[in-house]
Amino acid sequence: MQHLAIFGGTFDPIHWGHLLIAETALQQLPIEKLIWVPSSNPPHKKASCFRHRLEMLHLATQDNPAFTVSSVEKNRPGVSYAINTLIDLSAYFPNIHWYWIVGLDTFQTLPHWYRGHELAQMCDWLIAPRLLGGENIAQSEIICKQVKQKLGEQSITIHWHLLHIPLMGVSSSLIRKLYRSGKSIRYLVPENVRAYITTHNLYSENSE
Ligand code: ATP
Repeated sequence: MQHLAIFGGTFDPIHWGHLLIAETALQQLPIEKLIWVPSSNPPHKKASCFRHRLEMLHLATQDNPAFTVSSVEKNRPGVSYAINTLIDLSAYFPNIHWYWIVGLDTFQTLPHWYRGHELAQMCDWLIAPRLLGGENIAQSEIICKQVKQKLGEQSITIHWHLLHIPLMGVSSSLIRKLYRSGKSIRYLVPENVRAYITTHNLYSENSE
């Protein structure tokens, strides 16, 4: 059976934190391919133009043969729910052991996702610890166990693995904020992504 991972997000823009998480997942689990899935119409936040986010994902991931980028969410009308993405991808790739990659902040909200209880059992969860206000790795583990327990109370069993990765304070919102205020975003995103942002003047006061 093949092992594939999905990394979903708005990627607005993709940054080095995302890339390190993806590479770490490939290193620490027996994953053959990682599918980047930009959210088209996320339920929980606003995202800028899908085409630009997709293009930046292609630029950032093109040199890694284990990475692929999927437009599956763009091809589906309505809100981009994760469970529908997994169902759609399972139709393309049958008989797969699936992993879903998330940051700790996102994982904490899993019990509240649309059909989250079903989705929770359809894949293994790979969690990247994230600075949520001073947490260390041990505290990340406690948070994961709390999520597992909360789902367990409703007879939902989940499998999760905490990725061993340095905590990174980088976020897409930080990058957008820095760029908007004329500050450097060099070394927070790959160079070709930085060039793309500059060329298309994304994230300035006047952009969408
Ligand atoms: P924003 O700042 O706009 O909310 P973001 O940086 O969180 O964006 P997303 O595209 O929303 O980026 O993230 C996709 C996934 O990657 C989410 O599950 C998120 O938790 C995780 N993630 C992003 N950055 C980090 C980070 N620095 N450490 C751990 N997880 C992260």
